[in-house]
Amino acid sequence: MFGLKPDAALELPENYYVLDDYEKGIARWCDGCGDHAVLASVQKLCREEQLDPVKTVFVSGIGCSSRFPHYMNTYGFHGLHGRAFPVACGIKHRRPDLDVFVITGDGDCCSIGAGAWIHAIRYNVNLTVMLFNNEIYGLTKKQQSPTSRIGTVSNTTPRGSILPPLDPMQVTLGVANASFVAQTADWNPAHMHATIKAAHAHKGFSFVHILQRCPIFQPELVNELTSNRDNICYLKDDNGITVSEDIEKTFKHSAPHDPSDINGARQLAASEEKIYLGLFYQGKNKENYDDYGAHNLGVTVEEKTAMLNAEFDKYGI
Ligand code: SF4
Repeated sequence: MFGLKPDAALELPENYYVLDDYEKGIARWCDGCGDHAVLASVQKLCREEQLDPVKTVFVSGIGCSSRFPHYMNTYGFHGLHGRAFPVACGIKHRRPDLDVFVITGDGDCCSIGAGAWIHAIRYNVNLTVMLFNNEIYGLTKKQQSPTSRIGTVSNTTPRGSILPPLDPMQVTLGVANASFVAQTADWNPAHMHATIKAAHAHKGFSFVHILQRCPIFQPELVNELTSNRDNICYLKDDNGITVSEDIEKTFKHSAPHDPSDINGARQLAASEEKIYLGLFYQGKNKENYDDYGAHNLGVTVEEKTAMLNAEFDKYGI
């Protein structure tokens, strides 16, 4: 039957994790919300990479997407608004053996959390960061966010927002020591999965900007983004995010881009012609601040005390 010998058995390691090992509860996001697709992709990544659930941490701030850690059967920290980065950096500093993911939304990251975001990029701490950008505050029922487009009608901008939006890609690419900057869309699960996977494989602060659907408060925007294939362009390079030929065919446009070219990356991010999906920039061998933070791990309390006393003695008068 099915070409299998009767005594055939799958050889699995003793602790092989399946999807069930990463799933927890029923996600309370609206039907059609892009967050569901990201959650499914991340759980799949965890299984593919066989991440140990007790050595994996999801840290978030506040917002719809920040409920993410509740739905992962791993460690998690659903923290304060805009403060996912300091928590995640602290965890990684003291426990470099853990896989640490940051989940943040456009309001959480680009408004109240902007300072923490910028310095976490510069510190290049080894985190996998996913910014869910739906261009609106969804959890608090439709206020303009820093990434809302001009003219966005919301509860705080009933006549349409007037300020130009902040572009998370341009900001990230503008910070010194940025090391991995990519953009994807939740309605293309294959591309999104390849992007998150590449981000997780990168050593350093991997920033994934996810165009995320909020059909409840941004239905027109969702419709425009998902129905107009002319707007989207797939970035192609052997060192970039690669997808199968079948998936590549789903893009109407593609363009070559060498991800080691940071000036080219900045031009793509600033372009108003198209929305580019793929790896904008990857810089390898950049300084990782967490490497320094982890220097003294493994020393005894007595050794630490002696080191501290030796430092204090330098200032003795
Ligand atoms: Fe998702 Fe929008 Fe619903 Fe929030 S309000 S769960 S972002 S669809």
